[in-house]
Amino acid sequence: MTQGKKQRFGRPYIETYYRDTLVSNVERPSLEGQEKTEICVIGGGLAGLSTALGLVEKGKKVTLIESNRIGWGASGRNGGFVAKGYSASHERLVKKVGLERAQDLHRLAIKARSDIYNRIEEYNIECEPVRRGVLGVSWNQGRDVRDHIEFMDKNFDVTLEYWSKDKVREACQTTQYHDGYFADEDFQFHPLNYVHGLARIIEEKGGVIYEGTRAEKVEEKALGTGQGYIVRTPQGSIECDQVVLCCSIYINGISQKLKYASFPVYTYVMVTKPIPEELLENSLNTEYAVFDNRYAQDYYRRLPDNRILWGGRVSVKGVPENLAQIMTDDLIKIYPQLQDVVEPEYAWGGKLCYAPHKMPQIGQMKPGYWYNTCFGGHGLVPTAVGGDVVSSAIANGDERYKLFAPFSKPNFAGGPISPYVAQSVYYLWRARDVMKSLKKRSCASVVDKKEAA
Ligand SMILES: Cc1cc2nc3c(=O)[nH]c(=O)nc-3n(C[C@H](O)[C@H](O)[C@H](O)COP(=O)(O)OP(=O)(O)OC[C@H]3O[C@@H](n4cnc5c(N)ncnc54)[C@H](O)[C@@H]3O)c2cc1C
Repeated sequence: MTQGKKQRFGRPYIETYYRDTLVSNVERPSLEGQEKTEICVIGGGLAGLSTALGLVEKGKKVTLIESNRIGWGASGRNGGFVAKGYSASHERLVKKVGLERAQDLHRLAIKARSDIYNRIEEYNIECEPVRRGVLGVSWNQGRDVRDHIEFMDKNFDVTLEYWSKDKVREACQTTQYHDGYFADEDFQFHPLNYVHGLARIIEEKGGVIYEGTRAEKVEEKALGTGQGYIVRTPQGSIECDQVVLCCSIYINGISQKLKYASFPVYTYVMVTKPIPEELLENSLNTEYAVFDNRYAQDYYRRLPDNRILWGGRVSVKGVPENLAQIMTDDLIKIYPQLQDVVEPEYAWGGKLCYAPHKMPQIGQMKPGYWYNTCFGGHGLVPTAVGGDVVSSAIANGDERYKLFAPFSKPNFAGGPISPYVAQSVYYLWRARDVMKSLKKRSCASVVDKKEAA
């Protein structure tokens, strides 16, 4: 192996709360020269790192390359909600593939969520706070929450705890929400510290990681045979038996097929300055992570130093200059009592990779040429699913990855117009949220009047 010099190419981390609270910011060298390995993983987000870890745990020789820093993309910028399921809802999955296959996919996600939790404990990864418990709150009055709880219990054997309006309002002191449900096994963590923890373990187990190393091209060693590949980088190359593409929306020249099978969507996070404890007690009076049930939802949580991390919105237009203000206004709409105290300290955006069906794309283009990508806005658990099924397929011939076959054919997703379609769908969702809310509120007032009479 040619050991690369400690030289930095690629982009540094953008300014985020996570970057500024990294417990260990180990930089890796760029690849210079030629190298041989069994498997080359391209992309150092959670899809790539989970795949690489699964492979080294199974005794495989792995090299992972990342264009920038590990976790530079969505994996180091997200909300930190580690929740079961995929970007497509359980309800949508059942419609799309039937109950049995949806149950199989769900079981993979439940296992992956436990794998993440167990890895944090087993390998002592410092990515606190690792707080169990996520609260889903309802924007509207009605049966939405109860219907969802019943659906999950009946079809997926998941017990969600029903929270009355009073209980929700004790935790989230706002008049916006009605009832809710509590998922005790979902949790929250510091994603960039988790990323660095996974990288450390991969290296401890013999894997090699290069940062600032962009894969420019993947060539077959002998055309059409699938008998090995050469990954070309600006200053070197990696000869390997198998390749796994985990490039998300940054895939560009590596695979036109994958590039055109997905589209980018931006989404955003804001982190406030620390807020006095007594003011938090009168607003966000819970340490559980919270999200609402609108299509265009808000999600948020308290950080250990009494800040609020606030996430939401999607757009195709990049990161607006006044993002901090936009997100702060969103927070104040829900918690007006914080109006005079909330000050944003960080605000950032990140790019998501979506396919029209909102499910990951996991499969093989040709023998030994794998892809594990397109996790959308709900990717922390699914990237661990992808890492599990792809590494098991490569190491043990496990065929669970085929459960993703209905979603994994890289079909054309609309090319340059697809982000605009996505933006229109988002506006439509927001309009539906408003309509639904108005409808439910007018029904509720009719009921109230009848009761009063
Ligand atoms: C603001 C925001 C909030 C979110 N909140 C949550 C949340 O709370 N819960 C949740 O479950 N999900 C959340 N998500 C989604 C989740 O973060 C993603 O689904 C997941 O991290 C995707 O992981 P990935 O590895 O596929 O992609 P990424 O993390 O984007 O990684 C891809 C990596 O591949 C590298 N790369 C690409 N091409 C090459 C190449 N040719 N050579 C070398 N390297 C390459 C890139 O530089 C990048 O680092 C959020 C995302 C964002 C942006």
